[in-house]
Amino acid sequence: MLKWKSMGPRKREARKRKNEDSLGEKEEDTDEKGAEERRDRRKNCGNKYIGAHVGIQGGIWKAVESCTEMGGSSFALFLGSQRSWKRPALDQTAAERFREQCSLQGFDPAHILPHGSYLMNCGSPKEDVFEKSQALLVDELSRCSLLGLNLYNFHPGSSLGTITTEQCVEKIAGAINHAHQQTPAVVTVLENMSGQGSTVGGKFVELKSIIDKVRDQTRVGVCLDTCHAFAAGYNLAVEGGVKAMFDEFDQEVGLHYLKAVHLNDSKGKLGCNLDRHEDIGKGHIGISAFRDIVNEPRLDNIPLILETPGRPGFEYAEQIELLYSLCKK
Ligand SMILES: [Zn+2]
Ligand SMILES: [Zn+2]
Repeated sequence: MLKWKSMGPRKREARKRKNEDSLGEKEEDTDEKGAEERRDRRKNCGNKYIGAHVGIQGGIWKAVESCTEMGGSSFALFLGSQRSWKRPALDQTAAERFREQCSLQGFDPAHILPHGSYLMNCGSPKEDVFEKSQALLVDELSRCSLLGLNLYNFHPGSSLGTITTEQCVEKIAGAINHAHQQTPAVVTVLENMSGQGSTVGGKFVELKSIIDKVRDQTRVGVCLDTCHAFAAGYNLAVEGGVKAMFDEFDQEVGLHYLKAVHLNDSKGKLGCNLDRHEDIGKGHIGISAFRDIVNEPRLDNIPLILETPGRPGFEYAEQIELLYSLCKK
């Protein structure tokens, strides 16, 4: 039986090598065991799909491997380089390998949430940036389809202070509508922001105003980032704060739009508007809010994804383990 907590990177590497050396049959046996263990942990926690944002270095399918190695039940990944607007097309063989790995390890597309490129600003007042962002959004949604994925998370955009929030919202919704026309099925998931600079989406009502302008509302949703929410002024740190935030979200946006949560503590204080993620329990949000989150029934069956910096001895595997240990049986 695998013990995520005690399994450091060196041990994981050794296990991987052992698997590679052994017969295919035995390898499959280990995969099944891992999948079973993840399923048991989830079930003991009201079906919470806790995981992390993982890298794609060496091939996009590596993301699936990384997630299973850390004992995660869900994951996020980038769909290509964060540095260029134009990227080579996604390799068909790599995409196939990714889909194979997902089915082998028992990952459902509903629990995989790709994260959009940071270059994009679908609300940009600069025409060239808006055009490039719109094109990149289409490209990223097409990549999701190729990978067999249904959800795609991105930061709504920023007015750069030169247009009004309403005009910015109009542009973002326009880019989403355009992308929906060009690509099939994938749901565009807006992330709430910390309210830094002139970004749109710090307040729930701003997210709702984008959703209201999307023509196909079956293809739009929200991913709530706990660090961003706290930095934007939603006080998760007080007793009952988590429940209050989801109540407010339900009233202002509607719970059926909630597709995922990003689990991050915050380096900054309440309402600081700074997007500074901290490891779980080490920041100003604190551990009791995360206890409430993993015990919140409204978050069953959706991806709950860590995007914390990680520190030696408190990597993703340990933070996932900690979060599952907070579940009241
Ligand atoms: Zn994000
Ligand atoms: Zn996030």
